[in-house]
Amino acid sequence: MTFNLTILGSGSATPVPDRHTTAQMLSIEGDYFLIDCGEGTQYRLIENHLRPGRLKYIFISHLHGDHYFGLVPLLSSLNLAGRTDDLWLFGPRGLWEIITVQFRYSDTKLNYAIHFQETDPHQPAQILDHPNVTVETIPLQHRIDCTGFLFREKNRKRKLIADKLPADLPVTFYRQLKDGQDILDDMGQVLYSAEEYTLPAPQPRVYAFCSDTRYNEAMFDQIRGVDLLYHEASFLDDMESLSEKYFHSTARQAALTARQVAAGRLMIGHFSSRYKVTDEFLVQARSVFPETYLAIEGQTTEV
Ligand SMILES: [Zn+2]
Ligand SMILES: [Zn+2]
Repeated sequence: MTFNLTILGSGSATPVPDRHTTAQMLSIEGDYFLIDCGEGTQYRLIENHLRPGRLKYIFISHLHGDHYFGLVPLLSSLNLAGRTDDLWLFGPRGLWEIITVQFRYSDTKLNYAIHFQETDPHQPAQILDHPNVTVETIPLQHRIDCTGFLFREKNRKRKLIADKLPADLPVTFYRQLKDGQDILDDMGQVLYSAEEYTLPAPQPRVYAFCSDTRYNEAMFDQIRGVDLLYHEASFLDDMESLSEKYFHSTARQAALTARQVAAGRLMIGHFSSRYKVTDEFLVQARSVFPETYLAIEGQTTEV
């Protein structure tokens, strides 16, 4: 199953050349899950050859503009492009009101339905049960209500042992074996056992998107053991007290979080515009958690 994350924006609120505000696309087995939608996200989709028409689910962490100012333009363009498929939108209280006010005063009538679900900033909750993945909210500690999102893969299939498979085994049985079901004959006797012809399913993969937050121990249990953790790192050590005051994190705190929860890998982003280059973010984070990478526009990572 494909489970890929493409970074569309790695910056924070103030504009900087070559850095965009937060947006990420998770592509899971052909379905698109957009996470945050900073200004200009629809252009980022086109630049990265991600067809906006295939979008099905949009998740907005909070209502600071650098995380959603691209949303209404995107919804509007989908309409102009003739979309009729339903779309699911998850975000904080107030988001739906903002959207409807904008469309009301522009006399825009969408030709597709948007199913809006409000997120609860205080309690983790499962908000989506998709055939391939479940999505939970992660309450964060920011100046306004803010949640992250936890994407948990499900139903990973057992792996066929190619060398062992009898040449005459009909391909239609492959799926059954991968689901862990034995192939039986008419009398109910086992012809091919899943145990013999397949390997156990790999561990389901988990991706945690932790948007704007200060160092937040309250979420540790929920995100423990994630394969890939995205955590904001707005500042370096020199700004730690300012970071705390603004309810943001430093690269070191993001790395400490990754270490505490035993994440597989850490990706940091949301770099403050006061830093012209981002190398030092990696240095400070890696001194705590070596498996750290920078969020970089246009790069795709397998979860
Ligand atoms: Zn932000
Ligand atoms: Zn914010």
